[in-house]
Amino acid sequence: MTDLADADDPLDAVANLEALRAAIAQRASDCDRAPDAIKLVAVSKTYSADEVWPTIAVGGQTVFGENRVQEAIPKWRDLRARAAALGKTIELHLIGPLQSNKAREAVEHFDVIETVDREKIAAALAHEIQRTGKHPRLYVEVNTGAEPQKAGVLPQDADAFLALCRDAYGLTIDGLMAIPPAGEQASPHFALLGVIAKRNGLKELSMGMSADWPLAVQLGATAVRVGSAIFGARAHSKS
Ligand SMILES: *Cc1c(COP(=O)(O)O)cnc(C)c1O
Repeated sequence: MTDLADADDPLDAVANLEALRAAIAQRASDCDRAPDAIKLVAVSKTYSADEVWPTIAVGGQTVFGENRVQEAIPKWRDLRARAAALGKTIELHLIGPLQSNKAREAVEHFDVIETVDREKIAAALAHEIQRTGKHPRLYVEVNTGAEPQKAGVLPQDADAFLALCRDAYGLTIDGLMAIPPAGEQASPHFALLGVIAKRNGLKELSMGMSADWPLAVQLGATAVRVGSAIFGARAHSKS
């Protein structure tokens, strides 16, 4: 294996993070984009709080992504408290599929929910937002490759679903998120996501992971979600 990111030493994650930030800034300017127009969401799924902590304390990272509500809650209760003691505020993104029976916990524990993708979820989130007065920012996930096993609204249903979220449930949707099919050219998928966002007046485009973030930056990503290039290859795939 020739992993660039070998995070056996937790400080390697900090070095990887710093190199990645510089590469994103370089890529942005190569694409005539402002480096600060691209947010780095550090994907910490499967890594323990102690493994993640140096990227906060030393690396100054405050934006993270998790794909499982149950995994994230205890880990980020701990990490948010430790970060708060340093005067840092964490922004936690939910990037994995959401079940409607987890909507309550998702609204309570996440600052951004990137995976709104069906009416049942929209209804459950609207209910929790009203009940709690807490307003996580919301993105709709689009299944750009129309893969049967994958979450996300189909591209041809995206406009109607966005209108439903807004008109029937009073939800403000800030952007779109997509995970292109594995083993396919990502660029048509990123481009399609950009077209749907533009048509619907949405600003945020969450796209690009360790393997394809440079392409995503080129095609207008406002957030890239990068895990293994920071923390190292995940031992057990929970993605
Ligand atoms: C795991 C995951 C990522 C990060 O993937 P890497 O290849 O480790 O960078 C990004 N987005 C989603 C939705 C994920 O589940």
